[in-house]
Amino acid sequence: MGSVPVFSFEFFPPRTPEGKAKLRAAWQELARLEPRFFSCTYGAGGSTREGTLETVLEIRKAGHEAAPHISCVASTKKDVGEQLALYKSHGIRHVVALRGDLPSGIAASGEFRYANELVAFIRETTGDWFRIEVACYPEYHPQTRNAADEVKNFRKKVEAGADAAITQYFYNADAYFRFVDECRAAGIAVPIVPGIMPIGNFSQLARFSDACGAEIPRWMRVKLEGYRDDAASIRAFGLDAVTALCARLLAGGAPGLHFYTLNQAALSAEIWRRLKL
Ligand code: FAD
Repeated sequence: MGSVPVFSFEFFPPRTPEGKAKLRAAWQELARLEPRFFSCTYGAGGSTREGTLETVLEIRKAGHEAAPHISCVASTKKDVGEQLALYKSHGIRHVVALRGDLPSGIAASGEFRYANELVAFIRETTGDWFRIEVACYPEYHPQTRNAADEVKNFRKKVEAGADAAITQYFYNADAYFRFVDECRAAGIAVPIVPGIMPIGNFSQLARFSDACGAEIPRWMRVKLEGYRDDAASIRAFGLDAVTALCARLLAGGAPGLHFYTLNQAALSAEIWRRLKL
């Protein structure tokens, strides 16, 4: 790639005053590391609309770049258009555009089926105002029927106007390198930044991973399970394994790293320090 790596940190909108205070301390600590940007997730159907914007505005007010996510599942074009207009009115020029997931059992009603339609809508209605990041899946999205479709569907988002992509997290660097090679062969030229999930809690990680189709390699799962509720050993092992993953990704040409912080600064900051970024 040759260009300066892009580092970013992702948060979710807190629901309680304590959560807000915790997040504020976390982003303030991480801001000292001078990442390129922060981002904040957006609940499917707009369920966290206010919290997402509030978080982004608080971080931006302190002089840092922050991008809200926006999802389209169960939304009308009017809803999404209004949300984009609101972001624009605050001078926000960077979004992460996703389809989103509805809680199981709830049927989707809305005017968008896939994220490529959202990206196209953003470009049609706001031109080049926003830098648009999209998601992609080196270990395949749970609903993807075959590997070739993953690349084809990702390419639709790029053809619709996405500028860059952030991957779902993974612990197998080869899956990422292979996926990037396949994307390049298919003519996808945008930066593909690995999403990194630090490991602090094994049962939570196992739950997330089952839901989103990310694989915890057996050697890691067996080690982590063996620590049971020994939080210090889980943390120490997780830091070693994830730092080694990040180092390998960067050495292999990854254009940056995007950390899923879960609103905690400590693990991401420690990985950052160990990488000597
Ligand atoms: P899509 O790109 O639409 O893909 C969804 C599935 O449909 C895939 O299996 C794909 O292969 C298939 N597909 C895509 N396009 C087509 C097409 N045109 N025809 C047929 N099949 C197609 N969720 C939230 O609710 N809020 C967030 O803030 C949020 N942030 C995220 C950030 C990142 C970096 C990542 C990786 C995920 C995030 N998610 C978020 C989760 C995301 O919403 C889910 O993974 C969701 O299931 C898919 O979203 P997508 O935008 O990748 O969808």
